[in-house]
Amino acid sequence: MALNSQWVREWVARSAQYIADNRTELIRLDREIGDGDHGENMDRGFKAVSAKVTELPADASPSDILKTVATTLISTVGGASGPLYGTAFLKASQAVKDEDELDGAGIVALLQAARDGIVARGKAEVGDKTMVDAWTPAVRAAEDALAEGATEQQILSAAADAAKVGSEKTDPLIARKGRASYLGERAIGHRDPGSVSSALLLKAAAEVSP
Ligand code: ADP
Ligand code: MG
Ligand code: MG
Repeated sequence: MALNSQWVREWVARSAQYIADNRTELIRLDREIGDGDHGENMDRGFKAVSAKVTELPADASPSDILKTVATTLISTVGGASGPLYGTAFLKASQAVKDEDELDGAGIVALLQAARDGIVARGKAEVGDKTMVDAWTPAVRAAEDALAEGATEQQILSAAADAAKVGSEKTDPLIARKGRASYLGERAIGHRDPGSVSSALLLKAAAEVSP
């Protein structure tokens, strides 16, 4: 079943819930290899996003909602992740412009645009121990699922599962982007916090029913 603007609203609400539930864990991870603010940054941002999206008119399109997510994240999250997630949602918004409902191809286009936005902004590659390590396998899994004729739900589940695995795979890596890159080998054995928050957003997407 195609995903409408109500689905996008519920994705946003569930994302905010998951970020709030994992605030302490994201802070703990960022304390290990960063400055300890990722959970706070994301929770502040998604609480603001929730409020803003609730204020949107009832006829707001998926693209309108995603644009509000983007601008709110840019103005409230701060740090490295604010502009990165802001760009991701802005590009996602542009990718689904004029669509009232997202089918499988629309979902894949949304995810691709988000990932490409993060890469364009942050210049990280897979293996650099960043959120790109969650997003890139998620996009690949979504593309594969689409090609195999999967449903919208199956595409999102494939993306969420791949993001989680991709995030776990950041544990043994040395970081080449962001604050963790200052640590050299001391980053080994710690999971990248941005990859964990990214996996949470995709898990939220997979769990919202159409
Ligand atoms: P800051 O590091 O400024 O305190 P956050 O703690 O909110 O910002 O976010 C850190 C996360 O941002 C990292 O865990 C990583 O996933 C992500 N990140 C940092 N730099 C980049 C980059 N150049 N490309 C992609 N992701 C990045
Ligand atoms: Mg930080
Ligand atoms: Mg910071």
